[in-house]
Formats: sequence, C-alpha cells, structure tokens
Amino acid sequence: MIIIKSDQEIDLMREAGKVTGLVLKELENFIKPGISTLDIDRFVEDTIRKHGMIPSFKGLYGFPASACVSVNDEVVHGIPDKKRKLREGDIVSVDTGATYKGYVSDAARTYAVGEVGDMAKKIMDAAKDSFFEGLKYCRPGCRLSDISHAIQVKAESEGFSVIRDFVGHGIGSDMHEDPQIPNFGKAGRGPRLAKGMVFAIEPMICEGGYEVMTLSNDWTVVTTDGKLSAHYENTVVITDGEPELLTLAE
Ligand code: MG
Repeated sequence: MIIIKSDQEIDLMREAGKVTGLVLKELENFIKPGISTLDIDRFVEDTIRKHGMIPSFKGLYGFPASACVSVNDEVVHGIPDKKRKLREGDIVSVDTGATYKGYVSDAARTYAVGEVGDMAKKIMDAAKDSFFEGLKYCRPGCRLSDISHAIQVKAESEGFSVIRDFVGHGIGSDMHEDPQIPNFGKAGRGPRLAKGMVFAIEPMICEGGYEVMTLSNDWTVVTTDGKLSAHYENTVVITDGEPELLTLAE
C-alpha cells in the first residue's frame, strides 16, 4: 500500500531532505584524491548530527555506517573503510539520508575524484539525466512504470545498462515503503500517481552488463564484469503540479 503523506509529514521530510541535500552538496568540495571512504562517512555523519538529525542509514538492516560509499565498479552498499583511499580518476557514489522527527530522506550522487576519463564523465551525466527523465512523469495521473520506462530509455540511449536487482522505493517514516520503483520496464503500468506520495527515485546504471554480485562482506555490490557503475537519487514529492525535490541543494 502506498502511504499518502499529510502536509505536516511532508514538512518534516522537507527538513530532513534539506540536510541530506546539503551534505551531498558539501561533498563536492570534500572529495579529492587521497581521502578514504571512511573520511567521507565521518564527514556525512558529523554534518547530519551537527544539524540535529540522525543518520538514517546507520544500523539500517545492520549497515555499519552513515553513508554507502561505492567506488568505480561498486554499484551500491559500499562499506566505508579507512584503508580504501580514493585515487585520481576514480568515481565514487555516496548514498545517504537524514532522519528528522521520525521522517526519513534518501539521496545519492556520484562524484569525480580529481580528473576522470571520458567514460566516467559520461556515465555520471547519464545517471543524473535519466533521473530527470523519470522525474518528468512524477505527477498526478501518470502511472508508476512511466517513471521506470523513461529512466531506462534515457540510460540505454546513452549506451548504458540499467541495474535490475536494486530499485527505487516509497519513503516516509520508513526508508523503504511501497511501491518498489524499478529503473526499467514498459510504460503505462502500476498505480496512478497522486498528491502526497513520496518516492526515492534512483537510477543505477552500468557501463557494461547489468549483472551484479555481492562481495564476501555481504554488503558491497559490484558489477560482475568489473566495469563502471553510477548512481543518482533524490527524494521526490508528488504534488498537484511540478514534483518537489526534497534533497537537491543548489
Ligand atoms: Mg534509496
């Protein structure tokens, strides 16, 4: 069941989302060659707590950190590690969220570490652009799979594949609520969207095939072919008109 949020609930999610957007914005200047993925996690957790909020990811399903930090062929759920140093030319995706008065936010970006190659730039742009294609269908009257379809068409038109094993989701007082929102599929299916629905829309795309496997730490998901992957996500409110992005700081 898709839970419709009241204006009061959305107000709380807006506050939570602001901090998530801010921390992801601040990471643009923080991420550089030589820092570790644990440095990123510490920065994220400190920033969220400084604003009086709780890191939504910490302890969720037993995840040990406040941010998932995934480098290059790592797709999602990378565990921050002080021994894992970023190198010039890497791309790193950071997925995190802040919780405020019981309401959650969720967003991800993929960052260039120093100067990166053309393929790295292209996949980062395509992840973001496919999110914004999906966003065009985040409005009342559209069907849920219109979002999925738009994301897939954009990502594939740029030459990338779309991860099948992980999907976007409803969000509210729980991180993962109904519905699941795949980043692929035919248009015109699933529930009609209505004001007060809140979704985490999150294309995860790959340079090569979309097959993935989970490493022996039971968390980190990597592409089976070892090629690059990128992730871009925001928490989105369906309104009467234009969708509202809760986690995008300008
Ligand atoms: Mg998410």
